[in-house]
Amino acid sequence: MAPIAITPPLNIEPTVSELTAQGIQHALSKSAPSHQKSHNGLVAKVAQLDASLLTTALTTSPRSVPDMGSAEMASQKVCTDHMIQAQWSEERGWEAPSLQPYGPLSLMPTSSCLHYATQCFEGMKLYRGHDGKLRLFRPQLNCKRMLMSTTRIALPGFQPEELLKLIVKLCATDGPKWLPKDRPGAFLYIRPAMIGTDFALGVQRPREALLFVMLTCFAPMDDIPGGVKLLASQDDMCRAWPGGFGYAKVGANYGPSLVAQGEAREKGFHQILWLFGDDCVITEAGASNFFVVWRAKEDGRLQVVTADLNEKIVLDGVTRRSTLELLRTRLSSTSATAIRDGLEPVEVVERKFTMLEIEEAHREGRLVEAFAAGTAWFIAPVGHIQFRGRDLQIDIGADGLGGQYTARVKTWLKNIMLGEGDGIGNEWGVVVDES
Ligand SMILES: *Cc1c(COP(=O)(O)O)cnc(C)c1O
Repeated sequence: MAPIAITPPLNIEPTVSELTAQGIQHALSKSAPSHQKSHNGLVAKVAQLDASLLTTALTTSPRSVPDMGSAEMASQKVCTDHMIQAQWSEERGWEAPSLQPYGPLSLMPTSSCLHYATQCFEGMKLYRGHDGKLRLFRPQLNCKRMLMSTTRIALPGFQPEELLKLIVKLCATDGPKWLPKDRPGAFLYIRPAMIGTDFALGVQRPREALLFVMLTCFAPMDDIPGGVKLLASQDDMCRAWPGGFGYAKVGANYGPSLVAQGEAREKGFHQILWLFGDDCVITEAGASNFFVVWRAKEDGRLQVVTADLNEKIVLDGVTRRSTLELLRTRLSSTSATAIRDGLEPVEVVERKFTMLEIEEAHREGRLVEAFAAGTAWFIAPVGHIQFRGRDLQIDIGADGLGGQYTARVKTWLKNIMLGEGDGIGNEWGVVVDES
């Protein structure tokens, strides 16, 4: 197979948080080329995930691409023509990955993932830029986070670069048809996942696993009239806890949250704002990170605040991280952007903060804006929070697109994703070669 062309080169980004770095080091040390003693005393080499071994079988029954804005597009059920699969076993390591027609998997009913939640996933997007190019956004970070997640649930390790090459290959195969050039700004949702397929029913580390990647049609979810409405979680439920796995994108975090989410939707809310503990510590909004812009109680300084990652009860979002980095470089007190645009500089704070503090800021007129940040919802202004039966209305700007800081972050990120960025962060858009 011809080598896969990717620009820029797939270097590991240096800005990895402590949390992720530790997870990765651990996982890589386990997935390093290893030699195992087999039962007859011979030494067997276990194969690594290797994208250069990819086999390709193209579909003979191509699917049709849903119209923009159609119900089909919004259904989140339509996948593109192809998918990636790679099998792993403890004995042999990774088999050659394949690019094949999209379709059902075949699993034994005793498979580990169907009983013990040996499953994890990632969420990314492939964008059609205004310059006609296909781009991924900081995909190296997703591939590394996937490795961290697999490690948390005893699924096999792999070199994140190899996963990225497979994702790029799938995007280069299906991107041109499913994101035609006359649809600038459109995107596909990329879902890599890994499951334990070991069909021994006992509770144990899976000895077999399957990695797969698909591309799904998705309608934009960031333009919600009136902004996102959040219902704060009750004190009888939490999403994640210290010592748990809230920091990993494992399926076990999401199923149990759906009862609360369903109740919230019945009451007219979009998502749960997950609180933790007696102090009502803010963690996340659904499967997005949560930010507020407020004036500090002590001195009225403008601050952007989000939960820190220290207790491992919050997911280290790529959107969260990028938002923090952009705000720190572009809107600090010395930033040229802030000065040029006449925006008041903001201090960027990652710390433990509580719903009680948000309520107090709201009461005292210090709460300026709030937004949710994640790949699926992108940057979505939050207009309403209900907490213990009390309602907080938050400004989402005259046009409903978010207050000026929310709107600014959204524009910066969107420009990078769609090839119109300038300056810091522009290198975060990775172009997928379609030739
Ligand atoms: C995926 C996810 C996010 C957002 O992460 P991104 O990398 O920005 O998409 C935030 N919180 C949770 C719980 C998530 O699952």
